[in-house]
Amino acid sequence: MNNTPQKQKPENSVQDVDWSDFRDHIATASPDGRRKWVYPRRVGGRFFRRRTVVSWLLLVILFAGPFITLGGNPLLLINIVERKFVVLGQIFWPQDMILFALVCLVGFTCIVVFTAAFGRVWCGWACPQTVMMEMVFRKIEYWIEGDAARQRALNLAPWRLGKITKKSLKHMVFYALSFLIGNVLLSYIIGWQALYEIITAPPSLHWAGLAFMMGFSILFYAIFARFREQACTFICPYGRFQSVLLDENSIVVAYDHPRGEKRGPHKHAQNFVERREVGTGDCVDCNLCVAVCPTGIDIRNGTQMECIHCTACMDACDAVMTKVGRPPGLVRYASLNGIERGERLRLTPRLIGYCGVLAVLVSILAVMIFTRADVEVAVLRAPGSLFQKMEDGRFSNLYTVRVVNKTTRELPVELRLEFPAGTLRVMGGQLVVPPQKILENTLLVEIDVAAMKSGTTPLVIGVYSNGKKVSAMKTSFIGPRD
Ligand code: SF4
Ligand code: SF4
Repeated sequence: MNNTPQKQKPENSVQDVDWSDFRDHIATASPDGRRKWVYPRRVGGRFFRRRTVVSWLLLVILFAGPFITLGGNPLLLINIVERKFVVLGQIFWPQDMILFALVCLVGFTCIVVFTAAFGRVWCGWACPQTVMMEMVFRKIEYWIEGDAARQRALNLAPWRLGKITKKSLKHMVFYALSFLIGNVLLSYIIGWQALYEIITAPPSLHWAGLAFMMGFSILFYAIFARFREQACTFICPYGRFQSVLLDENSIVVAYDHPRGEKRGPHKHAQNFVERREVGTGDCVDCNLCVAVCPTGIDIRNGTQMECIHCTACMDACDAVMTKVGRPPGLVRYASLNGIERGERLRLTPRLIGYCGVLAVLVSILAVMIFTRADVEVAVLRAPGSLFQKMEDGRFSNLYTVRVVNKTTRELPVELRLEFPAGTLRVMGGQLVVPPQKILENTLLVEIDVAAMKSGTTPLVIGVYSNGKKVSAMKTSFIGPRD
């Protein structure tokens, strides 16, 4: 039986692309701009198996995330409506925007460092788009419509009962899954309790929530049923950063061109010593690496913006190499310097610089988090108010006080007028702020004429909690001019 891989046309409609000018166009568009649908072949192999395990782990975290709490807070909450953000159980209020921005900056720098060292490992192994597309939706598609060749045939077939059944089933399952994903995403924004309320209450009470729910579902359905690789190549900006983040030392999915070239079909009677003698390399030009690629590119052309590092071509080529009796790894994780000079991953000055920036940012973030006050107080003059002369000859000003309790316990807060001498009264009694809430109240400050300056007098209000001074607020007291 002949097991030798024969040259195959890639089983997707990008096979007619002229690869010699591959950098001038994307593989999934014709010269007149029309889309070429990709039918990637089903793939298996050691990298696929590892990615499957990682994917299931990530999917469990994604779907369980809204129900996981840390210190009484969700793992992640991005509540734009209430301007409340929670990252790893740590609440960030609008007053913590600098801190939140710093967290984002640290995250961004991590991505830069990681990408400079290991390329788009994130895209292939952890990006929700890739995980969902390749590990969930693609598998369902294979299950309902079959492998690439069958899918292509089904699309070309006339609309008969079999095709209508398969297509309807696929799109129903896709939409149901998209609805589920949309709901999970919504629960990361408003919390699962609020989502449960929307689901169980009459629709007329939650039009906005329902609109978001449907909007997210339709968006995800469109991405996974239609846009697919276009989300990575057209919409996601990350791929476009590659040209500035990668260099010849970055580890990427790469074709070992010195070993593979000059490519040529495998002849049964010819062993690889003979192939070398006639100037032919290990690549048997079977095109399987192209046929399995979900973005329709040929990795043998070198690193490309469209490559999402899904490792499918590595698995496909390893299987071919094993069949023809050559060592695997013709397409593998390697840097250009690794392939051409045998160099291993090393710390380049650029990488050291990125790591230095990351270390500085993490240090600043750590200091800011550990020195962050539990309570934050803002005192503002009551809108439209000036000053009032009291019966005893003193003057008074009215203020609005806003107290943010960042802790998970109830916090009594006391305000004392520290400068100048006078009295400070909180209207409506003592300030007791519930856990993780904001409390607003009115303050009345009265000062003797002797302590006042002409026009504006600076005020200092001490903020105390449980008898301990937390901070001091500065504001001004308005009085008459001499
Ligand atoms: S790189 Fe590997 S999979 Fe791709 S054409 Fe060559 S032998 Fe086939
Ligand atoms: S070139 Fe290989 S790693 Fe890159 S997207 Fe295509 S199959 Fe995945």
